[in-house]
Amino acid sequence: MKDWFYKFMQGRNGINHFSRFLSTLGTVLLIISLFLIRNTFGNFILLFGFACVFYSNYIIFSRNKVQRAKENQDYLALRRIFLGFFGKKKNKMKNLKDYKYLKCPNCKTEMKVPRGKGKIKVHCKNCGHDFITKS
Ligand SMILES: [Zn+2]
Repeated sequence: MKDWFYKFMQGRNGINHFSRFLSTLGTVLLIISLFLIRNTFGNFILLFGFACVFYSNYIIFSRNKVQRAKENQDYLALRRIFLGFFGKKKNKMKNLKDYKYLKCPNCKTEMKVPRGKGKIKVHCKNCGHDFITKS
């Protein structure tokens, strides 16, 4: 049985980050769809869940490793952008007590200044514009 499986998987792509993500997403969607009333939206979730699981298996058993590796890279790049975006937002929320976020009136670059310092002069590192603001 193990031997057979090993032979079967030879030359195939196997599990990667993207296939793992798709099978998790697909499983979650299928579970969610169980709790939805069978309307258009519920059917869509069900169908999409099946599609994710199906494609995840397609990746694992695919023999086109080059194409699958490219897909996986694209997925990882997207994930990095996504996580980076939410990481920044979280950081900003944490800092909101001690820092004030403002935009340079000249070039619209976002910057942070310490709170509770009264009137301060801010120097934009991007364009060199100076302006006075309340902190
Ligand atoms: Zn500026």
